Amino acid sequence: MKAGFPHMGDVWLPMVAILRGVGVEPVVPPPYSKKTLSLGVRYSPEGVCIPFKLTLGSMIEALDLGADVIIMAAGPGLCRFGYYAKIQERVLQEQGYKFDMVTTELFEGKFIGVSRFIKRLSGGASMATVYSAVRLGLKKIGALDDIERAVHKVRPLEAVQGTATKIFDEARHALDEASNARSVDLVKADFFRRLDAVERNPSADPLKVGVIGEFYVVLEPFSNMDVEIELGKLGVEVHRTTFVSEWTKFSLFLSMLGMTEKGKLHKAAMPYLKRDVGGDGWETVGEVAYHAGHYDGLVHLAPFTCMPEIVAKNIIPSMKEQIPLLTIICDEQMGRAGMLTRLEAFVDLLRRRRDAQRKAGALAHAAAR
Ligand code: SF4
Repeated sequence: MKAGFPHMGDVWLPMVAILRGVGVEPVVPPPYSKKTLSLGVRYSPEGVCIPFKLTLGSMIEALDLGADVIIMAAGPGLCRFGYYAKIQERVLQEQGYKFDMVTTELFEGKFIGVSRFIKRLSGGASMATVYSAVRLGLKKIGALDDIERAVHKVRPLEAVQGTATKIFDEARHALDEASNARSVDLVKADFFRRLDAVERNPSADPLKVGVIGEFYVVLEPFSNMDVEIELGKLGVEVHRTTFVSEWTKFSLFLSMLGMTEKGKLHKAAMPYLKRDVGGDGWETVGEVAYHAGHYDGLVHLAPFTCMPEIVAKNIIPSMKEQIPLLTIICDEQMGRAGMLTRLEAFVDLLRRRRDAQRKAGALAHAAAR
C-alpha cells in the first residue's frame, strides 16, 4: 500500500513517522505550490474555501506520485471541512483516479480511536507498534513546534535576514531523519543551540503581533503567503496559539479529562458569542479579547467564503477590547505584492502607535516626578 495525504503545513512530519513506523509506505506530495493550487481550483466546486482547493490539488499530486490510498480527516465538528473528503473522492473518481479514500474521525475515540484507525490502515500491526509509531510522530511535531516558537523570536532580531528560516528548514529535515525519541531530543537541543548562536542586530526593537484565524490558513504558509516570515523581516515577533502539537495534545488526550485546547479563549469570547459558530470563529473572537493589551496588533487570516471567520470578522469591531487588527482574506485571487504592501503599512502604523505610547508614557512619568 502507498498512502498519500494532503501536504498541510508540517503535518507531513508526524504522518511520515507514523506510517513508516507501522510499515506503510508514505507518499508525500510536494509542498504546496502554484501548481497545487491551480490543480485544486480546476476541479473544485465554485465557492469552496481554499483548504478544499489546496487539499484537492495536493491529493492529485500524491496520486500522480503513485499513492493508491488517500488519508483525509472527516466527520462532524470540523465545519464543512468534515464533508470535504466525500466530495473530493467523487471529484477524483470522475477524473479517472483509482484509489481508496480512508477517512478518520479525529474527534471520536481520541487517542485510542486514532490508534485503531492506524492499526486498520497498517493491515494488522500490533497495538504496541502503533503506539510507538504515534508517540514518535507526536514527539517530532512537538519538537518542531518548539523550534518554530524560538524561530519566531529570533527572526526579527537576526543580523542577516533569512538565517532563522534556513535553520528551521534544516530542522524539519533533521527531525524527519531522527529514528527514535533520543535522536529527536538531540536534534531539538542542537537546533536550539544554533538559534541561540544566530548573530543579533543590536538595534532591533521588535513589535509583538499575534497571528490568529482559521486553523488551516494559519498553519499552511503557502496559503497565507508566508505571512509569518514576512512579519519577521519587518521586525515583528510573531505570537501564535495554534500549533499542530498543541491541537493533537488536547484533541487526542487532554479533552478526555475535560480540558480544551483553547478554554481560556472560549471564555474570553463568551460575552460576544454564546455558542460555537464552527471552525475557529469562536477562537478568533476569543484571541482578540484575550490578547488586546498584550500585543501591539493582530493579523487575522480568514479564507474567502469561510462562514466561521466571517462571523468573527463582523463581531470584532463591536468588541470593547480594541487592538489594531489587519484581516487578510486568503484565496487563489490573493496577490503577493498587495499583501506585502498592506502588511508593511500595518507594521508602520503599529510602530508609530507604539512610539507615541512610549512618548506619552515618558511625559507622564516626568510630570509625576
Ligand atoms: S473553517 Fe472555514 S476555511 Fe476552514 S474548512 Fe471550514 S469553511 Fe473552510
